[in-house]
This record gives sequence, C-alpha cells and structure tokens, in this order.
Amino acid sequence: NTVFVSGATGFIALHVVNDLLKAGYKVIGSGRSQEKNDGLLKKFNNHPNLSMEIVKDIAAPGAFDEIFQKHGKQIKVVLHTASPFHFDTTDFEKDLLIPAVNGTKSILEAIKKYAADTVEKVVVTSSVASLAAPANMGKNNETLTEKSWNTDTWESCQVNAVAAYCGSKKFAEQAAWDFLKENKSAVKFTLSTVNPGYVFGPQMFADSLKNGVNTSSSIVAQLVHSKAGEQFFNYSGAFIDVRDVSKAHLAAFEKPECAGERLVLSEDLFCSQDIVDILNEEFSQLKGKIAVGEPGSGPGFLEKTSCKLDNSKTKKLLGFKFYNFKDCIVDTASQMLEVQNEA
Ligand code: NDP
Repeated sequence: NTVFVSGATGFIALHVVNDLLKAGYKVIGSGRSQEKNDGLLKKFNNHPNLSMEIVKDIAAPGAFDEIFQKHGKQIKVVLHTASPFHFDTTDFEKDLLIPAVNGTKSILEAIKKYAADTVEKVVVTSSVASLAAPANMGKNNETLTEKSWNTDTWESCQVNAVAAYCGSKKFAEQAAWDFLKENKSAVKFTLSTVNPGYVFGPQMFADSLKNGVNTSSSIVAQLVHSKAGEQFFNYSGAFIDVRDVSKAHLAAFEKPECAGERLVLSEDLFCSQDIVDILNEEFSQLKGKIAVGEPGSGPGFLEKTSCKLDNSKTKKLLGFKFYNFKDCIVDTASQMLEVQNEA
C-alpha cells in the first residue's frame, strides 16, 4: 500500500511520514527542493519504503501532474498537508490564498487525470481556522463543531495575515469538498479532512529547531526564550499535540467511518498564559528567568475571550485519547531546551 504525502518536510508531516513507515506503508513524499528531500531521506536513514519527489511550488499549474503520471498507478492514499503557514506577507492572495487553493485543486486534478482508478482515500490537512473567522473565534457565546464554517469571504479575510491564512484554509478545504461533489463519477476516492487547532508538541527531529521553528511551535519557543518581566501576546484557541495530529491522519484513511468526515482536533482550549504557567512550574532552570504574566489567570481570560468548541463527534470517531496540555508543553519545551543547551 503506497501513500503520497505532500509537504513531507513540514512539522506535522514528518510525524505522519514516521507513523506511516512504522505501520508498514510505502511512502512517497514531496518537498520543495533536492536539498530538502535529501535531508529528509537522511533523517529517516534512507528507509527502503520511503522516496521523495520535488514539488517546488504547489501554486504552479499542474504542480502534481508529473508525480501522478509517474507513480499514480501505485498510490492508494493521498495525504495533502502542504500549504503555506506563515504570517510574513502583505500580498495575501499571492502568498497564502492562491497557493492553498491551487495546491488543493491541482493535487485532486492530478489524481483525476492519472490515478482515478487507484486512489481510494484522500485526506486534506485543513484547520480549525476553516471553522471560524478570527473575529468570531473570540465570541464566548459561540460553540464550534464539525459543522461550523469560517464566514469570511475571499475579500473580507484579507484584512491581515492571520485572517488571510484562516481564509486560505477555508477556501482550500471548500475546494476539496466541491471537487468531490463535481467529480463524483470521475474519481473513486473518499475524502476526509483533519482540522487541528494550534499544533504543539516535539519536532520529529530535534535539529529542525536549529533552522528556525514552524509557526505554531514559535508560540512556545518565544515564551521559553522570553526574559523576566517581558510582556507577551496572550494567544488563545484550541490546541492539539502533533503526535495526535499524525495519528489522526492515519485514522482518517484507515477507519471507514472517517470517510466524508471533518475531524476536528482539539484536546482543550489554551492561552499563552497557561503555557507560561507550565514553564515556570515545571522547569526550575527557567524560574525567575522568563516571563510570568499573571499566573493562574488563563482560565478566566479564556472564559471572556474565546468561543467554545465541541468536537465530541471526532473524539468518538477516532476513539483514542489526546495528549493533555501539560504533557504536550513539557515535551515541547524540554526538546527546545535540550537543543539550546547543545548549541
Ligand atoms: P509547516 O510550515 O512546517 O509545513 C508546511 C509544509 O507545506 C512545508 O513542507 C512547506 O514547505 C510546504 N509548503 C508551503 N507552501 C508551499 C508551496 N507554495 N509549495 C510547496 N510546498 C509548500 O507547517 P505545519 O506542519 O504546521 O503545517 C502543515 C499543515 O497543517 C498545513 O496545511 C497547515 O495549514 C496545517 N495546520 C497547521 C496547524 C499548526 O498549528 N501547526 C494548525 C492547523 C492546520 P517549506 O517548509 O519547504 O516551505
């Protein structure tokens, strides 16, 4: 059984690749350059079941055609994780919205053209961002579920990079469901989406922390590396451990009951204050050296500033227990501190 993973070099995808190999799947991954692909193969000790292909830019027309022309007949499962996740742009269409949407459309088009008879399952990595616009994430009288949709339009999401990223996830996910509706008779795959909240947890390979950290992990990294008395932005939202996100990608295609479902991954709500509290309580070497904020004020802050989330349907479908916040943050920060100490 061969699984194709787009964006295999990413924070989440490296865990997915690892879990797939452990489960005995053959994996074909895509990364943006020969150098990145070689680096990944080396990290996995040139595992005989792993190979890599280059997709320089998922926004380019026909970005996945060559790969599916070459390997389409052996690919049964497609996990589409590649999508821009950064806030470092003012050209929201070019850098966030268009690559997210075009990447999703072009991988599905490539399946239709070259692997319509072989691909049985497609899993698209979406986000809690596609459940609600940032402005509505803060409404404490709203409850998000697997049925919720971000109400921003293509235009209204372009107010800042965060809203545009959230829009990019919504429009990409919607493009996938629409594609399936419009091509029901031309393809045979079922579709599931994995919609995680903020993803924390250790990097698959600690040395990934040496070349700049991925966007969600940087929320923890900034606090681990903060100074005593420093003010910090109190991020809030749903969180999930990367090890659970990876597990859910496998369940999404392995469990027949996950077909056609949006799997909303959240263990609980969190805010940055909660991270700071755990860092100060659990790491004696950080005490007195990093930000403290207002210890214990996290739950009250969340009550006022965050919507609720009910993902009981997903929890029932997946049937496994998620990492709790404390273990997730302790494991994330321990790895960051180890890498820092080695430097
Ligand atoms: P990463 O940035 O580590 O992974 C994103 C991957 O997509 C990287 O491999 C990146 O390659 C690739 N990619 C981005 N843009 C392009 C492009 N234009 N062409 C080709 N490849 C591209 O982040 P995560 O692992 O966190 O994200 C993986 C997925 O999970 C994304 O779809 C993201 O939206 C989603 N997600 C993440 C959450 C989180 O908190 N981490 C929460 C919810 C959803 P490169 O690094 O070489 O640019």
